[in-house]
Amino acid sequence: MPITVLIEFIKDMFQHWFHDWYEEAVKVTTPLNPWVAKLLSKRFNDAHHFVVKPINRGEFKVKDGKMDGLVNLSKKTCSCCEFQTDLLSCSHAIAAISKCNCEAIEFCADYYKTTVLVEGYSRSIEPVGHPSEWDIPPHVKQIIVLPPPWQGQVGRLRRKRIPSTG
Ligand SMILES: [Zn+2]
Repeated sequence: MPITVLIEFIKDMFQHWFHDWYEEAVKVTTPLNPWVAKLLSKRFNDAHHFVVKPINRGEFKVKDGKMDGLVNLSKKTCSCCEFQTDLLSCSHAIAAISKCNCEAIEFCADYYKTTVLVEGYSRSIEPVGHPSEWDIPPHVKQIIVLPPPWQGQVGRLRRKRIPSTG
């Protein structure tokens, strides 16, 4: 079987995925991806009882009863490391964001925004047409691609049969 069949299969699969994911993405009406909005909503509920103590305009000490967080909103960091690792507000950061009357979406990376999701799947993967229509340069056409040379197993060959337990 020629490798072009595999390439054609992969191309068809990506075309199908891009179409379906684009159709799903345009249906989203919220500014953030639904799973991110759900996660932030859960974190907002967790952060509701946290005690937030401002250090300065951008830094906050957030007491959650277990592991306190030191949040820097201007650097988008927290001492729990979740904020800077996921580029998404942790519950400490959400508590600090609520304290300064900002919106959590301002502190989320663009990856989580619906507009970026739609833009990512808005392009299409074009069909390549029938192989008889392809414009292949002669120097490429004459290349014969062979599988790599076979190499035997490493180590000594087994000479003794291992009998079955039965
Ligand atoms: Zn945190």
